[in-house]
Amino acid sequence: MSENKEPMFEKCSSERMCTWLADRVESLNHRGKGFVPVYVLSKDENRRQALESILYGVKYQQARGDNGIIINHCPFCGQTPGKFAEEMKR
Ligand SMILES: [Zn+2]
Repeated sequence: MSENKEPMFEKCSSERMCTWLADRVESLNHRGKGFVPVYVLSKDENRRQALESILYGVKYQQARGDNGIIINHCPFCGQTPGKFAEEMKR
């Protein structure tokens, strides 16, 4: 039996959050301090599905009532999570 305890780890990309961030984000409607994922509906002409939910970014809220700020860099892997990353490159 091989024991490979190295966890699968992927850095944040325009399509997904890294494992560490994904493990630490709150639910979509979370109010209060924490990381909250932001999804947008996108029409993808190349796919059959008319609308798909895509990760736009992850915002950090400081307190209840704070709308949060989209993070430029994931504090865990240093990459930018979500489509927001592509907009930053422009
Ligand atoms: Zn990350």
